[in-house]
Amino acid sequence: MNVSYVAIGSNQGDRAGIMQDAIRFLMKDNQIQIEKTSSIYETDPVGYTDQAKFLNMVIKVNTSYAALELLKVLQQTEHFFGRERGVRWGPRTLDLDILLYNQENIEVEELIIPHPRMWERAFVLVPLLEIADRRDIPKDIDKEALLELQDREGVQVWKLKNGEEESVHFES
Ligand code: ATP
Ligand code: CA
Ligand code: CA
Repeated sequence: MNVSYVAIGSNQGDRAGIMQDAIRFLMKDNQIQIEKTSSIYETDPVGYTDQAKFLNMVIKVNTSYAALELLKVLQQTEHFFGRERGVRWGPRTLDLDILLYNQENIEVEELIIPHPRMWERAFVLVPLLEIADRRDIPKDIDKEALLELQDREGVQVWKLKNGEEESVHFES
């Protein structure tokens, strides 16, 4: 089994519904087991700022897929939920990024792991550090330093992980 952390984002349509349905969709894949889900955060858009706010969360996945196979499944899932390629960092119904895959460093044309922009993105780090097991964070990354350094501005809790509704939301 491989351990991977996947970031989920949406800023178009029924954002929370899409994220929830995407999780259910991935859970149906017998090569994927979703071990943990973070709280959902509402975040101001970064990069291309003239667009609606995002909902972001991170899930911990156990999978027998190789990294590139996992990427393919995630891209098919984005497509299934109506993702269309438009402006870079622009609006989307669903974005699924692989943050970490075991402790591997991968650098091929279509996949870079750890995700190259994750360490500067509070909307990724806040949900990641909420659920990540210490052993899953690359050794050269100081988790405490990250927590202190990260700018949480523009990242608000939208739905708490252990909130009453949440278990209803994410149970299969
Ligand atoms: P960003 O990568 O900065 O978050 P984005 O999510 O908007 O931007 P996309 O248009 O969704 O970017 O993806 C562009 C390409 O990034 C994909 O086609 C994919 O091949 C590649 N990619 C490279 N590394 C990763 C990764 N770790 N997870 C997902 N996609 C990746
Ligand atoms: Ca992304
Ligand atoms: Ca992406």
